[in-house]
Amino acid sequence: MQNLPLNISQILEFAATAHGDREIVSKDCDGDIFQYDYAGAASRANAAAQWLGSLGLASGDRISSLAWNTHRHFELFFAVPGAGYVLHTANPRLPIEHIAFTINHAASRVLLYDRNLAETVERLKPMLETVEHFVLLTAEDYDARLAAFPSQSNWPQFDENSGAFLCYTSGTTGDPKGVLYSHRSVVLHALVAGLSGALDFSAFDVIMPCQSLYHATAWGLPFAGAINGAKFVLPCDKFDGASLQALIKAEGVTFSGGVPTIWTMYLDHLARTGEDTGTLERVVIGGSAVPRAMAETFETRYGVKVRQIWGMTEMSPLGVLATPTPKIAALGDDAMNEIIWTRQGRLQFGVELKIVDDDGVGLPHDGISAGAVMVRGPWVIERYFRQEETALDAEGWFDTGDIATVDANGFMRITDRKKDVIKSGGEWVSSIDIENVAAACPGVKVAAVVGVFHPKWEERPVLVIETMDGATLSETEVREWLEPRLVKWWMPDRVIFDEIPLTATGKIDKKTLRLSFADCLR
Ligand code: ADP
Repeated sequence: MQNLPLNISQILEFAATAHGDREIVSKDCDGDIFQYDYAGAASRANAAAQWLGSLGLASGDRISSLAWNTHRHFELFFAVPGAGYVLHTANPRLPIEHIAFTINHAASRVLLYDRNLAETVERLKPMLETVEHFVLLTAEDYDARLAAFPSQSNWPQFDENSGAFLCYTSGTTGDPKGVLYSHRSVVLHALVAGLSGALDFSAFDVIMPCQSLYHATAWGLPFAGAINGAKFVLPCDKFDGASLQALIKAEGVTFSGGVPTIWTMYLDHLARTGEDTGTLERVVIGGSAVPRAMAETFETRYGVKVRQIWGMTEMSPLGVLATPTPKIAALGDDAMNEIIWTRQGRLQFGVELKIVDDDGVGLPHDGISAGAVMVRGPWVIERYFRQEETALDAEGWFDTGDIATVDANGFMRITDRKKDVIKSGGEWVSSIDIENVAAACPGVKVAAVVGVFHPKWEERPVLVIETMDGATLSETEVREWLEPRLVKWWMPDRVIFDEIPLTATGKIDKKTLRLSFADCLR
């Protein structure tokens, strides 16, 4: 058989050839709507690749984007790796020092950014060490540069193991860590993500990604969608209920995806206005556990199917996805829905998954035994970017940091987390950073931050403080100390003064703290 490398540019070229007039509709930062099709996107992506090629970069060099869900960002998903460079999708919601850290660590030579992030970029500039070209993603700047290059459909071909995307995750302690996706991992992931047992894409679909494009390359949707010739609707950074509803109605959106917080806002909008979900058929929800009531409301009130997805940046991100099987369906609608709504998902081809106990011994798939989730597969990380040591154990398994059960039907249910992290509205809040700032506050003996359930944001940080003997400290004093030292959305929702429990080994017992304050934000 022919040994042709899997290259990302082939996806867009295919879509342009087989589904050339299928539309891509995009909102820009000013709210204006732009529309073109796969043929148009391929020709602009090719022009962008040629323009990047004219900058004198070396193959494999990194290019950062600081951008929302727009057609220009979508084009860059193909143009940058297609030209042989790596697209680092920087996260504009991180604290500015973290954004600077990721761009410097990536050693990006070009930074492409949206107009409404220009102020952020001005603040970043003195901190950036390697960026030579700053380009605004606007008609006047980016588009004007592309105009100089003739439309062609010739893409270079290279080793499918070459780097294509660099995504940083700031889940656990310390600096953000980079995960370098390859052409091969992205294409294989896209093929499986689109399958009927997963996202179930077809050329009839109209996909509106409501997870930011910079999060694990938007869960691979641009690639899985283009392979299937689906129409795309890109909402920029406007994820509020009214904006999403307007696009769903105007463009006939059938499929969308995002974190639970987005859908809480959307369902609130529907409840307030009495509107229905129009053409929407399916929503895939992940990043945090899907509340059962959310899945139930979507399905029983609006007839929209909810598919939960679990994964992580280190997994490109697809791990498991909750879709029915004949066996589950035979149990009847109620029993089936109960399984589908309350499990993160079932095993998918390409991701080997096992759960193990504290000694690394495999646990049975009985739906009861809970253990650490270990994964391996062609779109799972091998080592973090620029790190010498592998991220895997001796048998090649990656420890996800999540704790789960798996039942006899292969459905996984997350029960806990080993990693000490807080996820608020789909974004990481660093408990360590908050603890370090709080611990430096005069009068504080120990500071511990835990993630606590919150009805809108899924989780919010709560700060527990044990004061020095004899010290008196008020919540206002603590807040005044934290405010200038933390980004606004990392401010703890509650400050609680209490004794801090320790584990047998003398570490802060976060598990006990989480349990003690589990209901304090309900
Ligand atoms: P992403 O950007 O895809 O959300 P991250 O790497 O930021 O990926 O986060 C991955 C972590 O988020 C997982 O290890 C898990 O703790 C949590 N997570 C993701 N999906 C789910 C889900 N459906 N239910 C519960 N937790 C989830």
